Amino acid sequence: MGRRRKKVVRIPKKRLPKFFSCPVCGKETVRVEINQDEGCKAIAQCSSCSLSEEFQIKQAQGTVDVYCMLTDRVYSTLKRTPITKLK
Ligand SMILES: [Zn+2]
Repeated sequence: MGRRRKKVVRIPKKRLPKFFSCPVCGKETVRVEINQDEGCKAIAQCSSCSLSEEFQIKQAQGTVDVYCMLTDRVYSTLKRTPITKLK
């Protein structure tokens, strides 16, 4: 613990947001996990509502792409579902 240098100046990296806003409940609680081992599967889950979707992705695709696919899927599902059935 004898280090004098306590202040380490770091160049802030552009970090991707860990959580995305949920297209269903609107909260920023959607997490995207990419599983490179299983042929590039990605899972998007919302910890606030029960939203959970799985996607097949390409290696070049990242969490943002998965999130885009998630919103696309959710919105196309919503269009097919009569609004009266939704809360
Ligand atoms: Zn949600």
